Amino acid sequence: MSFKPFCSTEIVFTNMSELSHRLLSIKANNVLLVMSESAVNRWGLGLMVDSMQKKCESSSGTFIWIKSVAANPTQRDITECLHQIGNKKIEAIIALGGGSAIDLAKGICAFYDREKNSKYTINMLTGLVKNKRYSNNKENIDIIAVPTTAGTGSEVTQWATIWDESRTAKFSIDDPGLKPELAIIVPELTVSMPPKMTVSTGLDAMCQAVEAYWSKHTTPVVQEIAYRAVEIIIENLRRAVDEPSDITVREKLCRASVLAGLAFSQTRTTACHSISYPLTMLYGIPHGLAASISLDGVGAINKGHFPNDTQLFSLFDKFGGIKNFIDKVSSGVVTMRLTGFGITENDISNIAKNAFTGGRMDNNPVDLSAEDVESVLRAVL
Ligand SMILES: [Zn+2]
Repeated sequence: MSFKPFCSTEIVFTNMSELSHRLLSIKANNVLLVMSESAVNRWGLGLMVDSMQKKCESSSGTFIWIKSVAANPTQRDITECLHQIGNKKIEAIIALGGGSAIDLAKGICAFYDREKNSKYTINMLTGLVKNKRYSNNKENIDIIAVPTTAGTGSEVTQWATIWDESRTAKFSIDDPGLKPELAIIVPELTVSMPPKMTVSTGLDAMCQAVEAYWSKHTTPVVQEIAYRAVEIIIENLRRAVDEPSDITVREKLCRASVLAGLAFSQTRTTACHSISYPLTMLYGIPHGLAASISLDGVGAINKGHFPNDTQLFSLFDKFGGIKNFIDKVSSGVVTMRLTGFGITENDISNIAKNAFTGGRMDNNPVDLSAEDVESVLRAVL
């Protein structure tokens, strides 16, 4: 018999001065580092990178550094990384960055094969992504995730989003072997996030928690965890915008992000995330904003169709509902209306048509029609 653990990722909260020590004490001599060069400079991690390289090379191991991490990774990005790795042995991938860096690390891990890395073409990789045919080697690679935002939860999930480079589709990579072995949470890393990214990632975490709470696959434990995540975000997100260097507030948002990640790692997301994909793909709306913009409308449809709904919605009562809360938290930072992102009435039906992602939309407690999605979108036009 096999039982699924609630979470197999070791989660460590630490601080900047301990981070280098933690990373250098990882027992692997064949290491792939996925961390943008600007991230290394921003956080003064150059010495750690040099020491990691020396440590690997002095034991005849491999050290490879992927220095460029684009937002929303594509099959091309993964293919280029696999070419860079070639036939080198990898035992651990350290991904330090936002959701994109962690998703790129998972994409590399999913297809890493010493015999094939150099031979992959973008077309080949697209076929493998679509058919969910992953390499068996992933089981031998440990992913160590160090998120620099408080929101995606990618550090505790087994999936990643890969965007088609033609920007007409998105794919999900999904396998238990892609769940990070270790998540190192360092609240100081999130302090330098600009206000818009703070809002976007915070709302992403909130949306993931709410969706886990009402998902068809929710459980009492998931609801408790998700509830607390939403509560912490409501109390702290605006404070992080107004007082960006308040480390106590940042630490609370990191806690909420991990809790939201744990909650939706059990359930996956629902209609809001499904609706977000065309908004990001076709109009470039940052993920967390794209996901949360439909939360109020989807919530109104879902109300009464999942357990303990009153408790969840009552968290937003003092703001006059979810929409008002989102407007308040984003005030002066970003306008949470579709027209603010260049979308007009003429675009609504096309967005709705592209809003049905299997495994997400059908995980919503209520089945939505294209017309339902259109009216949810019109309410935030
Ligand atoms: Zn999300």
